[in-house]
Amino acid sequence: MDFLHNIAVVGAGMAGLAAARALQQAGRNVQIFDKGRRPGGRMSSRHNAHGLFDLGAQYFTVRDPDFLKLITNFETQGVVARWPGIMTRHVGGQWQSQRPEHPRYSGVPSMAALTDALAESLNIHQQVRITSMTRTDSSWTLEDQNGRLWSGFDHVIVAIPAPQATLLLDGVATSLLPLPDMSSCWSTWVRFGDTLTMPEGIDAWQGVFLETSPVLRWAARNQTRPGQHEGERITLLANDDWSDRHLEADPDRVADDMIEAFRDFYPAPLPAIRARGVHRWRYAQPRQPAQDTAGYLVDMAKGLSLCGDWCIDGRVEAAWQSGHRLAQALFHL
Ligand SMILES: Cc1cc2nc3c(=O)[nH]c(=O)nc-3n(C[C@H](O)[C@H](O)[C@H](O)COP(=O)(O)OP(=O)(O)OC[C@H]3O[C@@H](n4cnc5c(N)ncnc54)[C@H](O)[C@@H]3O)c2cc1C
Repeated sequence: MDFLHNIAVVGAGMAGLAAARALQQAGRNVQIFDKGRRPGGRMSSRHNAHGLFDLGAQYFTVRDPDFLKLITNFETQGVVARWPGIMTRHVGGQWQSQRPEHPRYSGVPSMAALTDALAESLNIHQQVRITSMTRTDSSWTLEDQNGRLWSGFDHVIVAIPAPQATLLLDGVATSLLPLPDMSSCWSTWVRFGDTLTMPEGIDAWQGVFLETSPVLRWAARNQTRPGQHEGERITLLANDDWSDRHLEADPDRVADDMIEAFRDFYPAPLPAIRARGVHRWRYAQPRQPAQDTAGYLVDMAKGLSLCGDWCIDGRVEAAWQSGHRLAQALFHL
């Protein structure tokens, strides 16, 4: 497949960036299209008048040797750092803290630092949503939300959540369908006017798994991330089941319910709330990890590939592996 030179990547999340980077380094001409204002997808961070909040991926693990090389390099440059250093669990009314067995990492000062660094020197068209794809004899033409055509691609890599890929591939006769389903996640941010009182026996917590809450699965204190300091800024993530059941609920009501659930479980009165907001991830995580796949999907005859976390598992590292492995497999880098 060495004749493949002009490549389009749809999606500038971790998977699309990993694939594009490997291909560009191998001398391919790569153009990335992303509907967001910035790259990063589910790793993007929210910066508003009340501070910086990570509302998607909270941290990531590093086990793959190739990913480790990349992350070690970024750690030296200060793009990422270890966080949370302490993992906390709330089980059966008890708070338990321990050092994680494998280190966890965050971007510095927020998750977006990692995808921003990966995006550097890539050719990304932001705020371009690809709405359809057409294959003529030898090349692809993509159409965006404004009816603009982008043509001349030998190969297209679709690196977006599976349900969105299913819609985009509607009308493209490919053997790759059907694709798996994904669950949703409501994410609420809260800026408190004062510091939280720490639970008894806990010096300071950075992130906590809420294993018995009917609503929440995780809470994090954004100001404890490396490179951040001031202001009690909490992210609350709802669990899959609650999020799916409240998918179409009023966002204000969702934020109130999630904050009430936090208040219910927190062992001390909460400080006054200065501001709060909410974000809905319609496609947050694959419902089930993929089984027995190479970590990506390829239709050789069509010149079409798919990658994304859902091809392996709903994690940052898995998204990177999916994109990186796809690039290696397609072009024998
Ligand atoms: C709330 C939440 C918490 C999480 N917590 C963690 C965690 O703690 N640790 C961890 O490892 N993982 C976590 N994850 C999972 C992690 O974020 C994902 O596995 C990873 O970011 C997925 O990357 P991706 O490239 O596969 O997809 P995405 O990040 O979804 O990237 C897809 C990109 O495609 C773009 N796009 C979609 N459709 C189109 C279109 N038609 N045209 C153009 N562009 C399009 C989107 O704008 C997006 O930028 C979490 C996810 C969520 C939602």
